Amino acid sequence: MVDNPVVRNPGEGARVKLDGLVRMFGHTRALDGFSISIEPGEFVALLGPSGCGKTTALRVLAGFESLDSGSVVVDGKDLSQVRAQKRDMGMVFQSYSLFPNMNALNNVAYGLRMRRQRPGPRKAKASQLLELVGLADQASKYPHQMSGGQQQRVALARALAVEPRVLLLDEPLSALDAKVRAELRDEIRALQTRLAITTVFVTHDQEEALSMADRVCVMSAGRNVQTATPVTLYERPATAFVAEFVGVSSRLPVERIGDEIVVFGERCAVRGAEQAISSGTLDALLRPEDVAIEVDPSAKEFVTHRNFLGASTRLIVQVGEISIRVDVRSDLAAELEPGTRVRPKVVSRDVLVAPRMNVSVADVSANGHPAHV
Ligand code: ATP
Repeated sequence: MVDNPVVRNPGEGARVKLDGLVRMFGHTRALDGFSISIEPGEFVALLGPSGCGKTTALRVLAGFESLDSGSVVVDGKDLSQVRAQKRDMGMVFQSYSLFPNMNALNNVAYGLRMRRQRPGPRKAKASQLLELVGLADQASKYPHQMSGGQQQRVALARALAVEPRVLLLDEPLSALDAKVRAELRDEIRALQTRLAITTVFVTHDQEEALSMADRVCVMSAGRNVQTATPVTLYERPATAFVAEFVGVSSRLPVERIGDEIVVFGERCAVRGAEQAISSGTLDALLRPEDVAIEVDPSAKEFVTHRNFLGASTRLIVQVGEISIRVDVRSDLAAELEPGTRVRPKVVSRDVLVAPRMNVSVADVSANGHPAHV
């Protein structure tokens, strides 16, 4: 049962299709044929390195940026030529961008005033929205009297007040400190699910994208490299770029024997994109949790750094000239001081691979280690 007018039933969100978007800024191709289809009520994160076109894609969808070619289609209607005000989208920016001279209630009610809604219903609706974001008792406060997290909640309520068909979030958490950020991350996701509103979220923080989104779209140079669920992106990255951008991995040149590779002297099954697997020479992309180590004074490999992360500790282990990252439980890390000789071993079922980068075949010895190990 829906008890709040802005709460929709699942499946009522809009279907969004961005098709072949190209946006040039002078000679810069900010979007280079970017396409994605987003399901009603879905939460999609656009993730990628700085300058890959995330914000431009969001702004094109919102109508703040024009297109050189391609189309923006929402629920089957081409909006490419429709002005931003008529697109029915709500946007939250990185900077809170509230009106400093209005209290929280009036900030939230602003869009409704612009739509000429009468004061009574307008205020009632703004109050409901503030309640929805947990700020019912802050209605009369001005932005300078609120914390960053509270201001961003008001900005969210303001974006939702006009009942947009699509919610656009441009790095809304990046100005907040880590704790508030984590709290608000959970709150936004819970609210988005409850409202069943189609949402596009821009971030360069992979943890944020993986923990919040139904699907993550990894972008590079204005293109959609892979869009998939967080688990698929992590476990089945389509390209080496995705594997290295999503999650931490260390590259290790390896020898290939038939369908297998040799890592730390042992044969392992491989996983990765077809194109990577079929290429001649390979690097293993080792996740920190793919490798275990045991102390062995006769080993050539040794620990160079030890970083406490809480429940786990990340070790940097020198393997020849290559450093790999290995995560161990913190209670087992006490004896693993820098300088400790250790023997690494692959513990995952299979190992991600990518075409070899910058190391010639001659550098790799028969046991799969670089020749200098
Ligand atoms: P970030 O994570 O740093 O915000 P982003 O992925 O959101 O980056 P965009 O802001 O979309 O990237 O920019 C994509 C490219 O287009 C960049 O090379 C950027 O310099 C360029 N660009 C974006 N807006 C403009 C503009 N108004 N004028 C000129 N170049 C622009």
